[in-house]
Amino acid sequence: MSYEPAPDLLKNRIVLVTGAGDGIGRTAALTFARHRATVILLGRTVEKLEQVYDDIVAANGPEPGIVPMDLEKAGQAEINELVQALIENYGRLDGLLHNASILGERVPFDHYSIEQWQRVMQVNCTAVFMLTRLLMPLLRESDDARVLFTSSSVGETPRAYWGAYAVSKYAMEGFAKLMADELENTSTIRVNILNPGGTRTAMRAKAYPAEDPNTLKTPDALMPLYLYLMGPDSREEHGRTFRADQIGDSLLSEE
Ligand code: NAP
Repeated sequence: MSYEPAPDLLKNRIVLVTGAGDGIGRTAALTFARHRATVILLGRTVEKLEQVYDDIVAANGPEPGIVPMDLEKAGQAEINELVQALIENYGRLDGLLHNASILGERVPFDHYSIEQWQRVMQVNCTAVFMLTRLLMPLLRESDDARVLFTSSSVGETPRAYWGAYAVSKYAMEGFAKLMADELENTSTIRVNILNPGGTRTAMRAKAYPAEDPNTLKTPDALMPLYLYLMGPDSREEHGRTFRADQIGDSLLSEE
């Protein structure tokens, strides 16, 4: 049996996607909008966000919002500005997809650049905490919010030569589990971790330059899983890790 998301699954939901300009985040933003969400597109390259905006509007999706933000540099003041704008424009947040991340270096840890380590930890972990922490009042205004953390198999079990990427995802998973535990009986916010597995994007090509991209699934194939976890059908899921490469066909599109 495969998951059949309702065409208007995300109607009236306000969903923020980080790293919405490219790769999996771009496809998720377009897909959420196709299922009637109002999507807030956060990313560091404005032209890419504008292209996604145009594509959503051209497909008659709800008008999205654009938030140019570099998660490596954004501090509390900048994120609070975003929070203020969301309060004024929408009054709540029904979904938060933590998707943006950077790969960093693939070298032994004793060759790893310390500056690079700090950048990767900032984007992939600390900024994820900061955004979640400061967006909590808006998430609490929703009666059925979802927070989705995007991890990786090296986040579950760090492996040699994956450096700060593995450690940042491992720490991010720790935060997601702590948050899920704290909210389990005190909130309707549902928190889950999603591991997309090998997917045809620029990041994957950088991590595995010799691999033939045609052997990989596209971001589109992941979208039933993303829709399930972002929408009302996943009400009972909380504190779980969903591994796209292990869940079989039920939540993945056939290509
Ligand atoms: P991608 O193609 O490299 O896209 C990453 C997105 O994040 C881009 O839109 C990028 O913006 C944005 N981003 C990076 N640094 C940022 C910053 N400092 N501030 C704001 N936005 C920033 O990566 P992807 O493959 O789609 O990966 C999406 C998620 O899935 C990541 O969390 C990744 O770790 C995870 N994942 C991917 C795979 C895979 O095989 N692809 C496997 C496991 C896990 P720009 O476009 O401006 O660079």
